[in-house]
Amino acid sequence: MSRMRAIRPTATGGPEVMTLTEVEDSPVGPGQARVKVAFAGVNFIDVYFRTGQYPMPRPLLLGREGAGLVEEVATDVVSLGVGDRVAWSDVPGSYAEHIIAPAARLVRVPDDTPLDRAAAVMLQGMTAHYLVHATYVLGPGGRCLIHAAAGGVGLLLCQMARAVGAEIVGTVSTDAKAALAAAAGCDTPIRYDRDDFAAVVKGFGGVDVVYDSVGKTTFDHSLDCLRPRGMMVLFGQSSGAVPPFDLQLLNRKGSLFVTRPNLAHYIATRDELEARAGDVLGRVARGALDVRIDRILPLADAAEAHRLLESRATSGKLLLAP
Ligand code: NDP
Repeated sequence: MSRMRAIRPTATGGPEVMTLTEVEDSPVGPGQARVKVAFAGVNFIDVYFRTGQYPMPRPLLLGREGAGLVEEVATDVVSLGVGDRVAWSDVPGSYAEHIIAPAARLVRVPDDTPLDRAAAVMLQGMTAHYLVHATYVLGPGGRCLIHAAAGGVGLLLCQMARAVGAEIVGTVSTDAKAALAAAAGCDTPIRYDRDDFAAVVKGFGGVDVVYDSVGKTTFDHSLDCLRPRGMMVLFGQSSGAVPPFDLQLLNRKGSLFVTRPNLAHYIATRDELEARAGDVLGRVARGALDVRIDRILPLADAAEAHRLLESRATSGKLLLAP
């Protein structure tokens, strides 16, 4: 059996648990393909798994997103061949030189789309896509509030909301991030580190939907930003988990809706995965979606990548190159 380099912590903890080690490369099983990872995406969910906030068996198969070249396919796989350019999300173990993936979770990357761009949009791009087109269907004249608007998901979400003609208020923590959010289509960037975002949004008459990935520090005030019967979409917790709350609040604040969605449930079938990934990768291929890659680090620097993400030092996508 061959060996490969991978990030496979045996304990949860800080970024320092992510050292590069040599591990056995698994054989390809029925329905699977072996892929040489060109780029692995770094996402906030990887932090939750690393710290143990989301449980995962040991060793931790960190990284769920990437793009690369098919090296081997099981005999029962007819949809893919050696040398195909593919991308994925929700396949654990992507912080590695190779992954073994179910062929049904791999999608083809258009010929003219660089693999770094493809790796950068699978998880965050499909998330922005389902939030705008499925969780709350935004349309022309719709109003939304997007927290962390210059983040990985945030910049893509701004562009997709803009593409359907919505009006966008976005929160950011620096002027540089405000400029990036504005360039991605955010009409009104707000510095939520110093300004009262709820007061500003209420001044506009409220929004139809809040896309909140920050969680603990924003959730309560986000509810105040909604028009009656508006929808609160809590899709992340970058600042910490939202504590349990009294459902009567939804009544008092205007018959509000709350949902806590997860990408996995919006790409659960092969048809939905193909449709969503195809639309996102198609936009990238024809230049309709700008992909901002903050930086690409060697796989050995995964710990540094997490430190950057957790300290709010990034705008857009972080990638690891094995
Ligand atoms: P981001 O690039 O958005 O990074 C997180 C950003 O959140 C920071 O840059 C920062 O922006 C903001 N933030 C606010 N408070 C904090 C804090 N205390 N610590 C760290 N960051 C903070 O990350 P991703 O795009 O990878 O993910 C964004 C969120 O979306 C995550 O919570 C992730 O789990 C979630 N997510 C959920 C999915 C789902 O299907 N449910 C799928 C994909 C992502 P600023 O400096 O401007 O405040």
